[in-house]
Amino acid sequence: PGTLDAAFFRRWLDAAAALIDEEAERLTALDSAIGDADHGANMRRGFSAVRESLAAEEPASPQAVLALAGRRLVSTVGGASGPLYGTLLRRTGKALGEALGERTDPDRTEFAAALRAGIDAVSALGGAKPGDKTMIDALVPAAEALSTSWEAAAEAAREGAAATVPMRAHKGRASYLGERSEGHEDPGAASAALLLGALADTAGR
Ligand code: ADP
Ligand code: MG
Ligand code: MG
Repeated sequence: PGTLDAAFFRRWLDAAAALIDEEAERLTALDSAIGDADHGANMRRGFSAVRESLAAEEPASPQAVLALAGRRLVSTVGGASGPLYGTLLRRTGKALGEALGERTDPDRTEFAAALRAGIDAVSALGGAKPGDKTMIDALVPAAEALSTSWEAAAEAAREGAAATVPMRAHKGRASYLGERSEGHEDPGAASAALLLGALADTAGR
């Protein structure tokens, strides 16, 4: 993938925005089954703001790219996913900055450790653990599989999202449905798989 510099992280978030734009209707359809039918619109609005801010401000380090993107998600997404994904990106960026010191190009292992810290912050904020039928169910296996490869992480995220289908939701709106939340893929797990897919595409280019 070349170096994991600021340009790499910008390319990732641009690719993620494009993929979310393409898949927004599917995300909303998933959310209409067990939520309030806005996840695609929420993610599209948030990531299009991220893309615009990154182009306007051109942050110079990986941590600055992730911090700006996280702030934009928090300020533009009305739903639960805004603060959760915003926290994920901001805390991943912060951990990366702390690990890097003066350097600006993490390797995949350093990024994996930072992502793990970001996921822990999402769990601390939202209280979800694996098996609660949330984005966490795609993110945790993806961060683990990053020790193997970018593509393994994307595949683990897709499998993690698929594995939410039979689960009963214990966090977020879907939890209001109780057992009626079973039999549907979690929209946030599906969007997390898109983010990891965009990451693997960016790294493989
Ligand atoms: P809202 O539910 O406010 O309409 P979205 O539809 O944009 O927000 O996002 C819903 C997704 O957010 C869910 O599918 C789930 O993956 C994720 N989510 C909701 N609550 C939590 C939580 N407490 N922890 C982790 N993820 C959560
Ligand atoms: Mg929703
Ligand atoms: Mg909503």
